[in-house]
Amino acid sequence: MLVFANFERGIMDKPTLAIIIPCYNEELCIEKTVSRLFEVLDDLISKDKIKSNSYLYLVDDGSTDSTWKIIENLHKIDKRVKGTKFIRNFGNQKALIAGLESVREIGCDCAVSIDADLQQDENAIEKFIDEYMKGADIVSGIRRDRKTDSFFKKFTAVMFYKTMNILGAKIPPNHSDFRLVSRKALKIMELYPEKYLFLRGFFNEVGLKTAYVEFDVKPREAGESKFNFFSLMALALNGITSYSVVPLRFVAVLGFFMALFGFLVGVETVFEKIFFHNSPNGWATTIILLCVFGGIQLFCLGLIGEYVGQVFREVKARPRYVKDIELK
Ligand code: UDP
Ligand code: MG
Repeated sequence: MLVFANFERGIMDKPTLAIIIPCYNEELCIEKTVSRLFEVLDDLISKDKIKSNSYLYLVDDGSTDSTWKIIENLHKIDKRVKGTKFIRNFGNQKALIAGLESVREIGCDCAVSIDADLQQDENAIEKFIDEYMKGADIVSGIRRDRKTDSFFKKFTAVMFYKTMNILGAKIPPNHSDFRLVSRKALKIMELYPEKYLFLRGFFNEVGLKTAYVEFDVKPREAGESKFNFFSLMALALNGITSYSVVPLRFVAVLGFFMALFGFLVGVETVFEKIFFHNSPNGWATTIILLCVFGGIQLFCLGLIGEYVGQVFREVKARPRYVKDIELK
């Protein structure tokens, strides 16, 4: 087992920063994003806040447009653009994990992940670095407001964070994947081999010193959101089932009370029949109860199925992602 007791960093060392950008069909954004992030890097270098060997790491999550061609060209012009291309689309979480694992391998003191559409305010990176220099191992970006999000997205996000918190996985609301993590956090990530690692949950529960920085959400630079109802649901379900077993306990408790209820109704029916010769004539009641209980049973089965699915996916131990090409 790895022990990190001797992993203290020299407080005054300015870091080598790696910026990770997951990209899926982002041909309309990517050039502008890269040049903007270079401006941020150059600014931080000139202010002597980061080392000059800081770089960008782009993960092409199996794009079908010219995203990868653009990344290759950018790499030819400036070797500070590094990256990899997945063999197919694995999803944003896998792209982020691949980025974190790759920069750990290439080498950096801290890594920031940011979306390719620059919806997150890149100027907040400076504040991330300041917090890192003050000793934080994780600096989480918190959305100041979600003006650019649809009502549906806002509503589902609020529901998700509320549910997660009720279920015991304490994730601050309006949290995002815009965050800085130190090399220590990246090292600790190695100890978590689960394939469907839910990064927001992981970085919150890992136990490292965490700071929060608020940032403004901007409209997308260009192109369209790559998330739809189903991909958001999948992310939320993975978040819940990989960080909480409370729903399973809830199902057990619910089952117990339903059985108790059934037993009491049974006793009451027999009691009425014997003492009042009153045989119940509730056809509607029977059908309603049948539907309600049938529904609850199916829901619970589905819920348990989600966990069985988690076990199934983990037990197969398939790779999290497969890289096709890598530019270092
Ligand atoms: N993304 C990805 N793989 C996917 C979907 C999205 O790598 O399968 C990237 C995308 O290119 C962007 C980030 O994840 O950099 C966030 O996606 P998007 O902006 O579409 O999501 P939204 O901001 O609408 O939640
Ligand atoms: Mg976006």
